[in-house]
Amino acid sequence: MPASMQGEMQPTIYRFKLGGFEVATIMDSKAMRSGLTPSFGGEAGAADVKALAAANRIDGDKYEHPFTPIVVNTGKELVLFDTGNGALAAENEQLKGRVPPGNLVARMGQAGYKPEDVDVVVITHGHPDHIGGLTKGGQPVFPKARYVTGAADFDFWKKGENVREARKFNRELYVKIVAPLADRTTFIKPGDEVVSGIRAVDAFGHSPGLMAFMIESDGKKLLNWADTCNHYVVAIQRPDLHLDVDDDKEKAAATRKRILDMVATDKLFVAGYHMPFPGLGFVEKTGGNYRWMPHSYQLNL
Ligand SMILES: [Zn+2]
Repeated sequence: MPASMQGEMQPTIYRFKLGGFEVATIMDSKAMRSGLTPSFGGEAGAADVKALAAANRIDGDKYEHPFTPIVVNTGKELVLFDTGNGALAAENEQLKGRVPPGNLVARMGQAGYKPEDVDVVVITHGHPDHIGGLTKGGQPVFPKARYVTGAADFDFWKKGENVREARKFNRELYVKIVAPLADRTTFIKPGDEVVSGIRAVDAFGHSPGLMAFMIESDGKKLLNWADTCNHYVVAIQRPDLHLDVDDDKEKAAATRKRILDMVATDKLFVAGYHMPFPGLGFVEKTGGNYRWMPHSYQLNL
């Protein structure tokens, strides 16, 4: 008898040392999405995006979109950045079949972290795939945690004044999930510290108050850029192209260029929520633009 097929199996947890910190990237889930275009670059950019996909040996008609929260153990606190999709699909009729079920808690368990171990949950911005795992059945998933998020992002989603049509449901989710946690939340601005060694960086645009976070221990640095760039080829090689899910498209494009330039110039290690797993790499400046250099073994040395 020939051996039976076992089905696909892919890594979802990666852990490494960053100075005195321990960092784990944990894939909550992934979505298979159709068409890099027109999502990236609209109809006007379609030919450019297709050419870029072909040049980088990836499919132009569908792409894998991972959701990868990050756990940082500073030795004093366990900090979780973003919470994945959680029970969004199960609890919201509108999202059934549209977002994958979250696996963050189960995978954190495989990595040795219990929900009650989490001291601080940082929400980089208010989009569903980042806030979805905060609650289940209306109850906080991380029962002992305090929360940290950007004041500007909270104000935008809570007030709901300039939310575009496509994000109306996102705003309802935010009011339901995040707003009730306000009394346990610290609201910060760029430059503020979350805990010692973790500092907020302005990444406004994709969400009006999106924050990136510089994580630093014993001289080792990692920038968690969250959703600054949403695809490892298109958003990095053509940061100017507008993306349908960016709330402030001009600002998002300007932010991409500013942050790409910073990480390329400073040769910073980057973690990105939607970069290919383990969601880590460097950015190289190539001519007038940029290229993602996926992490290989540098963090294992
Ligand atoms: Zn996202």
